[in-house]
Amino acid sequence: MSDLSDLYQEVILDHNRNPRNAGKLPGATCQLEGYNPLCGDRLTLYLRMDGDVVADLRFEGQGCAISIASASLMTEAVKGLRLADVEALFAGVHKLLTGRAEAAPNLGKVAVLSGVREYPARIKCATLAWHTLRAATQGEQLPVTTE
Ligand code: ZN
Repeated sequence: MSDLSDLYQEVILDHNRNPRNAGKLPGATCQLEGYNPLCGDRLTLYLRMDGDVVADLRFEGQGCAISIASASLMTEAVKGLRLADVEALFAGVHKLLTGRAEAAPNLGKVAVLSGVREYPARIKCATLAWHTLRAATQGEQLPVTTE
């Protein structure tokens, strides 16, 4: 367990300090805002869809380390995926974060987010980006909140 905690801390700190795919996305086909009122995390997600493939995505975020790191990990994980695979990944992450599954091998690097289960108050910080992504791919236009 301590190995996972160490890895969790390391990955969260790294992605918070140096978020991947941060900023606006030129040529985005959709964008959506997400808000976690519990912690005050806000993000805007930009997607460029090519048919049913997430060709590119970026985010702008203001919030705690977990919300930024989770968004950063997510953008790396879903870039280039088909929507069906995005949906499967979302389901896997959701189960992982709500404690109904152990780290599944097919989650790859994202599995490190399971470390957040030791901090139940921060789970919504970690799920914010994922809920926003899912809503965006479903054509939602109103801001997403975790409440
Ligand atoms: Zn937060």
